[in-house]
Amino acid sequence: MRIARTLEELRAHLSGHQHPAFVPTMGNLHAGHLALVRQAKPLGDVTVASIFVNRLQFLPHEDFDSYPRTWERDCTLLADAGCDVLFAPKEKVLYPEPQTFKIHPTPALADLLEGQFRPGFFVGVATVVMKLFGCVFSEAKGRRTALFGQKDYQQLMVIRRLVEQFALPIDVVAGPTQRDADGLALSSRNGYLSPAERAEAVQMSKTLQSMAAALRQGTTDIPALEAQAMDTLRARGWAPDYLVARRRSDLLPPASNNEPLVVLGAARLGSTRLIDNLEV
Ligand code: AMP
Repeated sequence: MRIARTLEELRAHLSGHQHPAFVPTMGNLHAGHLALVRQAKPLGDVTVASIFVNRLQFLPHEDFDSYPRTWERDCTLLADAGCDVLFAPKEKVLYPEPQTFKIHPTPALADLLEGQFRPGFFVGVATVVMKLFGCVFSEAKGRRTALFGQKDYQQLMVIRRLVEQFALPIDVVAGPTQRDADGLALSSRNGYLSPAERAEAVQMSKTLQSMAAALRQGTTDIPALEAQAMDTLRARGWAPDYLVARRRSDLLPPASNNEPLVVLGAARLGSTRLIDNLEV
């Protein structure tokens, strides 16, 4: 695996390749990231990953400074998963000066759910992803592929809209959420959990599963279902931001439950904020 710290190094490592398959990450890699890299492998002629902790998508009180950085281990894992080129720019390389042009995804999508509780989050995500696409695909011709996890359901939708609206010649491919044996969705932030919190953390996916089961069985009172899910987690000591059933098409509340739905949740357990989702 070749490592690029600068744009010049990245272009040198990618020269001779036309069809990159690209997995952007913030590092502290786990099996969810590595599954995306393996999924990327047959989709291009060079498999590229990036590690960049993007300050622009963190609020001032969030965990940018303490976000886990595990460089040596990440490199070994990526190389073993078949990554060919790792782009790991320093902040000054990606943001040589303050970013004055930013991508503002439509508030109709970006100001709900995660965007409501993390204002500006999707501006940061869309801006860095646009920039990384510019770096990684600059020499590409024909097929270009970028892979994102379904674990970040709303983020995946934002990226799909970004690609459509700017007519980017990039195929966006989703990877299924990878989970621990008990059902907890893998996340870099799971490492913040104490052993007791780790045991409790499975209740997020359990709660989403029971919401999904109720919807499949024909529950129509969605507000009551959501309120009950919030109460369940609160009673166990969680601080939930949202537990909702939404339309897969636009993440708005459904008019009926005949539409394809997804249940999504975000909640803090101790000081760790966990998110998850499940298509119904
Ligand atoms: P992050 O490093 O958290 O920015 O995530 C980088 C990519 O990995 C994003 O596309 C995430 O959606 C994806 N990802 C994170 N966790 C998982 C998981 N448990 N399963 C599948 N993909 C994931």
